Amino acid sequence: MSADDLTQLEFDQQHLWHPYTNVTQPGPTFVVKESQGVHLTLDDGCQVIDAMSSWWCMMHGHRNPRVTQAMHDQLDRLPHVMFGGLTHDPAINLGRKLLEITPDSLTRIFYCDSGSVSVEVAMKMAVQYQHAMGFEGRSQFATVRSGYHGDTWKAMSVCDPDTGMHHLFQGALSVQHFVSRPPIRLTEEWIDDPARNGLGDLRALLEANTEQIAGFILEPVVQGTGGMYFYHPEYLNQARALCDELGILLIFDEIATGFGRTGKMFATDFCSVEPDIICLGKGLTAGHISFACTMTNDRVATGIGGGNPGIFMHGPTYMANPLACVAALASLELLTEQDTYATVAAIAAQMRSQLEPARALPNVADVRVLGAIGVIEMTHRVSADQAHGLAREMGVFLRPFGNNVYTMPPFITTPDQLTQITDGMLRLAREL
Ligand SMILES: *Cc1c(COP(=O)(O)O)cnc(C)c1O
Repeated sequence: MSADDLTQLEFDQQHLWHPYTNVTQPGPTFVVKESQGVHLTLDDGCQVIDAMSSWWCMMHGHRNPRVTQAMHDQLDRLPHVMFGGLTHDPAINLGRKLLEITPDSLTRIFYCDSGSVSVEVAMKMAVQYQHAMGFEGRSQFATVRSGYHGDTWKAMSVCDPDTGMHHLFQGALSVQHFVSRPPIRLTEEWIDDPARNGLGDLRALLEANTEQIAGFILEPVVQGTGGMYFYHPEYLNQARALCDELGILLIFDEIATGFGRTGKMFATDFCSVEPDIICLGKGLTAGHISFACTMTNDRVATGIGGGNPGIFMHGPTYMANPLACVAALASLELLTEQDTYATVAAIAAQMRSQLEPARALPNVADVRVLGAIGVIEMTHRVSADQAHGLAREMGVFLRPFGNNVYTMPPFITTPDQLTQITDGMLRLAREL
């Protein structure tokens, strides 16, 4: 049969690779024709709520008119231009806005294409900074277990070694240093004992490898893909002091947590300290186009600049793409003009009360909510394919991962739509 005779879905299943799938056994897949607000319209006309915000990006809903208008206007003026030797208003105006909303010390912005690349850039910055400071041996990284930082090589090397399948790539991945995830949860009382709060292990690891470690990288407060785990920000405050003591850079990966998702603009805002480097992505353009950035402070930027070769060794073809910059600016304006914190707090309160009944179900290990992140943790792995099969019936698209049935709803989700999402989650928790 020639490719011309295949239906759209058949062609997809025979020729297109999807995220983390086996080409010989592609999972169930919907053909999406259109999106609007919280809804996806499938090829049979059926509408489902995108309870995942399309992998956590789409906080203003699909096709937000302000964002798409900004992109249309930019498309007619300057869709792209190289960033070497040239600059433009979209990049500059977005930069001004980012400085306004991010932690004060982060003043230098590197625009790039995707979250994983922003992590690569962050790790490169740390290594180049250490080399510039005369620490040639400092090219490895420390991190906590259960983290996720992306799929490119260096980013993958600091993902959880078990779920990131490090054994599969043994020999090809750089050696990194792992400690247990921060043991004290966000909702628990902080314990000021290094033997119990994780800082003792962290100190031991960093002290034993100080001469090799350039930076300590982790997702602040919320570990996303690695288990939807929320931990105490005091861990980060104390890690900051430890990094300063040992000359190690602190890198926060805010790709999943940035832009209001946790109920604060950034998860860093739970802390009393700021990182040396931060990675932003996912929600940066509110899901309208791929984009990310890495920001750092003057100390790191000028440190790199004063080293040899002085130039920072990265520069993607589509760096600072104007379409992405205007999409991001429009999204950030929406985020700061509206009462996003109140919106997210209302979503959190409703999810808390509506997901609570799940706690009584036989296979449920935990129920937790932070901002617009709602999680039912099961005692076993849940099948994304089975959830998929129920999506049309429930009117809700959910894609469980690991043991977690979770949602990251768009901030524009109405109370009724949110009820539909939590009903869907409860049903999955009962049936899967
Ligand atoms: C999704 C994610 C990444 C990777 O971003 P991509 O855009 O998929 O490359 C990195 N870190 C965290 C915390 C993420 O959630």
